[in-house]
Amino acid sequence: MNNQGPIFSARPVLRIDLGAIKDNYRAIKDKVGSKVQVAASVKADAYGLGAERVSRALYGAGCRVFFVATAGEGKGVRTAVGDNASIYVLNGPAPRDLSLIFGSDLKPVINSLTQARIWGDAIKSVNSPPFSAIHIDTGINRLGFPADEFEKFCKNKNLQEALMFDHVMSHLACAPDKDDPYNEVQLKAFQRSAARLPLKPLSLANTAGVYLGKSYHFNMVRPGIGLYGGCATNTPKQENVKPVVSLMAPVLQIRTLKAGDRVGYNSLFTAGKDMTIAVVGAGYADGIPVSSSSEGETFSGFATVQSRRVPIIGRVSMDLTVLDISELNKVPRIGDWAEFLGSNFEKDAKDASLLNYERLISLSTRAKREYK
Ligand SMILES: *Cc1c(COP(=O)(O)O)cnc(C)c1O
Repeated sequence: MNNQGPIFSARPVLRIDLGAIKDNYRAIKDKVGSKVQVAASVKADAYGLGAERVSRALYGAGCRVFFVATAGEGKGVRTAVGDNASIYVLNGPAPRDLSLIFGSDLKPVINSLTQARIWGDAIKSVNSPPFSAIHIDTGINRLGFPADEFEKFCKNKNLQEALMFDHVMSHLACAPDKDDPYNEVQLKAFQRSAARLPLKPLSLANTAGVYLGKSYHFNMVRPGIGLYGGCATNTPKQENVKPVVSLMAPVLQIRTLKAGDRVGYNSLFTAGKDMTIAVVGAGYADGIPVSSSSEGETFSGFATVQSRRVPIIGRVSMDLTVLDISELNKVPRIGDWAEFLGSNFEKDAKDASLLNYERLISLSTRAKREYK
């Protein structure tokens, strides 16, 4: 029964389509028009896809501004893209990170008076220090100057001058829902606040913000998820993103079950009839979420084998996942691929009750990465 295919490895493969990332970048560029710069959010290792490879690809598509969360991430991106790009560090300057920031010519985003003072002091004695950006909180109450600190900052012209900022930004809380009135509340607050600072290029929109219309684009947009094949808004059709990632797991064993046989840890699945199953070599250590497991006949996850969708049965384990392949016309050979994600990325995340962001981030490094 276990018919072996061609030479194969038991290691799963993560296919990352850099061409699709570039196409997604260009699509956003077309959407916002030539007067608006399209930066790229490549924090968290470009949402798990590999910041250096991804940043270099985006640079090739014309991207010259990158956003990371930490200085360490910025260092990697700098190595990848060379000197002719701006790299902003969203979480701001921390005393321990200053040498990294200067060493890799990163631009810190200043989120508070405390960070303003850290940066102001740090660059006092530095020849031609990097520029920075000012982040004004307009209602997400996460990072960024809160209203009272912003008041003080507006009055302190010396501090403003000392920081040498070349960008002013804010961040939207509810952009996926075009009808949420909070978007306009934040838009107005941003316009009002930015007008109180010296005139600099402005940005407000993440991927979802791009779809809120021209008034949200300002001088720059900062998409992340949309570049990586994820939908950002409640009306995904308008986004038309190309899929970017496929997790390929090799079939390791084919088995037949009799009605009543149980599958996997905790026997979450019991065969209701005779069936054929495939055990494939990828599990939650590779980013197939445990929440894709099925409890009984309620399926929360699927793979594609021979172009057909087949359900995950039982609990996903660390290195293995079991698929019901009873409905396939042909029994796969050992070493044939089962594909996870691919063009079903959005649905797979939803079925597993995960944010599409989370689903991307959980892809680990055990799978062999193949970039094309
Ligand atoms: C992560 C992030 C983005 C990108 O968000 P997406 O929803 O992935 O497009 C933009 N701006 C800031 C401040 C962020 O933290």
